[in-house]
Amino acid sequence: MELLKKGQLPPKVKELMVSKVGNYQAEKLTATLLNGTLAQKADIIKDLNLEDYLRVCYNCGKLITKGYMEEGCIASYCSMSCIIKDLGKPYFDSHIFNEENPKGTIFWTSWEG
Ligand SMILES: [Zn+2]
Repeated sequence: MELLKKGQLPPKVKELMVSKVGNYQAEKLTATLLNGTLAQKADIIKDLNLEDYLRVCYNCGKLITKGYMEEGCIASYCSMSCIIKDLGKPYFDSHIFNEENPKGTIFWTSWEG
């Protein structure tokens, strides 16, 4: 499980935000990304097209650059326990991609540009 250090965004994300909305707005959006609600964080990531660099865990609301996601779904999760809390263990076990389940649709991946 890979979490961002508290109070920090990846430098590339900061750059992108400043280039899109300017310093002042970027500061405000950074504060919301770090301290806002899950829905606020998801909105900012979507509005500024930051999905290639940053996601939010749809269970616990943490910002992540690595985690689980399911093909064709917007939701992302920081850890196995978070995805299982949201989707249920039977669903996770039958949809996780691995050697025994090469048609699985749930992957561990990274969003780092
Ligand atoms: Zn989580």
